[in-house]
Amino acid sequence: MKYGKPMTLAALAAATALTLTACGGSDDGGGESSGGDGGDSVRIGIKYDQPGLGFKDGEEYTGFDVDVAKYVAKELGYSEDQIEWVESPSANRENMLSNGQVDMIFATYSITDKRKESVGFAGPYFVAGQDLLVSQDNSDIQGPEDLEGKNLCSVTGSTSAQKIKDEYAGTVNLVEQGGYADCVTMLGSGGVDAVTTDDIILAGLAATDANSGKFKVVGNPFTEEKYGVGISKDSDKCQAINDAITKMVDDGAWEDAVTKNTEGADYKYNEDLNPPTPDACA
Ligand code: GLU
Repeated sequence: MKYGKPMTLAALAAATALTLTACGGSDDGGGESSGGDGGDSVRIGIKYDQPGLGFKDGEEYTGFDVDVAKYVAKELGYSEDQIEWVESPSANRENMLSNGQVDMIFATYSITDKRKESVGFAGPYFVAGQDLLVSQDNSDIQGPEDLEGKNLCSVTGSTSAQKIKDEYAGTVNLVEQGGYADCVTMLGSGGVDAVTTDDIILAGLAATDANSGKFKVVGNPFTEEKYGVGISKDSDKCQAINDAITKMVDDGAWEDAVTKNTEGADYKYNEDLNPPTPDACA
């Protein structure tokens, strides 16, 4: 395969096996390009701690990002058992792509100009909005302007934390954690007054059995977060990924995946913005 940089021993073994079996036509025929895709594995970065989006439970990986990733991988010629899932926390995503630790990232990863300086993006495949999560009985906090003097949790390396630093520095006390589940734990124990990130992430965390009835999403989104598929800057897969996303929307699998993964959560995606049309590849 062309876009993994340092080859692991396992990848090398797989590539060798592919060379030997290439004439046998062992791949499923879904590959976009000739020359080996479909015989190797693909390393896909996801979140492990965002229920409904990217979640690891034992050896099971679930969520909307996981479903979109599986669909796209299949269109690129990879079966599910050729996917190697890799945890990609918010702060590590650009590095993981630039270092070749993963081939693609589907991890509630907003497309931004700043990130585009170091990585590439296909998509978007979803548009969310930044919002706030508060205790169920809290009626004072309706938006970020109500956070003066309050403790607010978000995640290092996210657009959510950056937005607060850019626009509410000095009024809000921002507490940064490595993941949103950690923030929700702090909210539950009274360590912070609110958690901020994308509405769909907050709704998924609020809907777990353990959190049921404890928290609510304020419901006043104040940004647009376009979720892209992170790829390395020199990847040649952008168009194939965009074609796969378009196919997923057209055949109904996108809608099914959103519905399935938000079931039980108090969440409805913004119909004016979804499903989005992928941007032209650079
Ligand atoms: N979508 C935002 C971002 O890419 C927030 C969610 C996240 O941290 O994954 O930074």
